[in-house]
Amino acid sequence: MFNLILFGPPGSGKGTQSQNIVNTYKLAHISTGDLLRDEVSRQTALGVEARKYMDQGLLVPDEVVIGMISSKIDDMPEARGFIFDGFPRTKEQAEALDKLLEFKETSIELVLSLEVPEEELVKRLLGRGQTSGRSDDTEEVITKRIKEYHAKTSVVANHYDAFGKLVRLKGDGDIAATFKLITQEIDKYLQPA
Ligand code: ADP
Repeated sequence: MFNLILFGPPGSGKGTQSQNIVNTYKLAHISTGDLLRDEVSRQTALGVEARKYMDQGLLVPDEVVIGMISSKIDDMPEARGFIFDGFPRTKEQAEALDKLLEFKETSIELVLSLEVPEEELVKRLLGRGQTSGRSDDTEEVITKRIKEYHAKTSVVANHYDAFGKLVRLKGDGDIAATFKLITQEIDKYLQPA
């Protein structure tokens, strides 16, 4: 199994590049943002609870997200590997993920961090807000999401850097240029499928 984390602030391109990676390497994609939005749209108990946080640009509590990930991993025993997008977002989530994977006798091999200047992030997210229909792509909520990233999520990079698993990539080029940088790193571990 080859397991990858695509890491970076809101608007850094994780969702778009995850799709490119899935198409090329046939990894199973797990996006906590997508999973949570699905729960919200189905108005499940989890979704109703999660929405309170999401609409304020705050992180959903760790135990909610960790439980969701755990069952998602169990749903796909045949996967060639996983690409985690938007998870882990706190040190506690990172430690929980490490344990979950260890239990399955596997681990995270690589963490690719997409580095994009803040003004570019805001520009992209506001642009997306005009068409995405996402209630959290407004200027006020975007500012809070970026603040939450600095307060709680950026430390996750250090967690994996300490294990020598972190690679920082320039994420402010166009989609194709960024994907090329990504494939150059993944190709060291895994061939396209
Ligand atoms: P973005 O990366 O653009 O902020 P996401 O779709 O990944 O968008 O996340 C949207 C929202 O969903 C976050 O602002 C947060 O409220 C919630 N969320 C997503 N993933 C997590 C996570 N791993 N832990 C806690 N909350 C999360």
